Amino acid sequence: MINAIKKTIKSTLNAKQQEKLINKYQIIKYKFFKPMPLEIILDISASCNASCPFCSRVFMDQARSKGYMDLNLYKASLEEARNNNISRLRLYSTAEPTLHPNFSEMIDIAREKGFYISVSTNASKMHKHMEALLKVDQIQFSIEGWDKESYEFYRQPLKFDRVYQNIREFNDMYMNASKKPIRQINLLLTKETNIDTFISLWGSFCEEIHIHFMFPSSVFEDGRIISKIPSKMEHKLYDFKQTKERKHCDFPFNIVTVSYDGKISLCCDDFSSSFEFGSISDGIKNFFYSKELNLIRNQFHTQELTTCAQCNIFLEPLSTDVEQVKEILSNIVSPQARIIFDY
Ligand code: SF4
Repeated sequence: MINAIKKTIKSTLNAKQQEKLINKYQIIKYKFFKPMPLEIILDISASCNASCPFCSRVFMDQARSKGYMDLNLYKASLEEARNNNISRLRLYSTAEPTLHPNFSEMIDIAREKGFYISVSTNASKMHKHMEALLKVDQIQFSIEGWDKESYEFYRQPLKFDRVYQNIREFNDMYMNASKKPIRQINLLLTKETNIDTFISLWGSFCEEIHIHFMFPSSVFEDGRIISKIPSKMEHKLYDFKQTKERKHCDFPFNIVTVSYDGKISLCCDDFSSSFEFGSISDGIKNFFYSKELNLIRNQFHTQELTTCAQCNIFLEPLSTDVEQVKEILSNIVSPQARIIFDY
């Protein structure tokens, strides 16, 4: 029934109308019910083997940019999520989850507990975890490059040949596997992206290619999140304007984000866990109905935003750029993947 309603809404309303409707629904939900988050994000690794020039890690508090989640903390976090009826688990936020020394075991533990598991990976270490990755429900590859040179700029210092081989070998195993996760590739567009070359290079290794504009990074400063362009990305990003539309963000309403050491973050843009939300060991309810989070939720209800006002979700691309991308996409015949460009 709910899926049928969602389907009807998606097929009859455009993205902006859907956003308005979601906002109204969230206001009613929090006014009259006491919902709990639908999803938990566990940032099992704060360490990353890439230094992508566009990533918010360039502005991250370096003291928090290394480390792995302790296995007991991981198990306790899953238990706490289950006790609060959360069944969706995302194993990534600020870094590369497959670097965790217990990554494969962690997938098995989450599966035993019946979670729907999503993982996002740069695919550089996939060869060590092929079987574990086949057991997840959704896997997202972060790539950006349409050839060796562009890949090795956007995902420096990772190597194109290693990643291409990993994704191709995973594809071979995938074809014969009984359980098949949904494979997505996320493409963040810059002015220089060669969209059709990207799609013909990667389009047969996934079910979906999600295309978004690459926005400036989000950084925590003076009690709020602001947008900043990393120096290596100047002149490469598209131009954006501040949106005038009402905006909804899923994080304060539906998601609990836990960093590698158990601290709770506002969202995956809160790279350094800068807000004082306490720890997962204090309990999810403690965070979700804290005065601090209620204040942020209220800002979305009234649309008088301070904490999130400068987050990049309030930026929108120029319509001429959107039309240009649509024009390119209309001429592409993808080998397999569904192309999703929601503008
Ligand atoms: S609007 Fe931006 S800063 Fe605020 S919770 Fe959402 S993602 Fe985080």
